[in-house]
Amino acid sequence: MEILACPVCKGDLELRSEEEEDDDVILGSLECAACSESYPIEESIPNLLPPELRRELAEQENLTQ
Ligand SMILES: [Zn+2]
Repeated sequence: MEILACPVCKGDLELRSEEEEDDDVILGSLECAACSESYPIEESIPNLLPPELRRELAEQENLTQ
């Protein structure tokens, strides 16, 4: 998997894998050493939305449930 830059500070992200398959990280997270933000990886898709936006979307989902 290509390691991307932190969307908040453009720092390097550190990959933490909890579950791997054929060199793909299925479950884990990308963590930014520079700003301590962490981005979840679920079903091998990294969620690199800025944390604020991610929280906003989560709140909207809660409202519609
Ligand atoms: Zn960062």
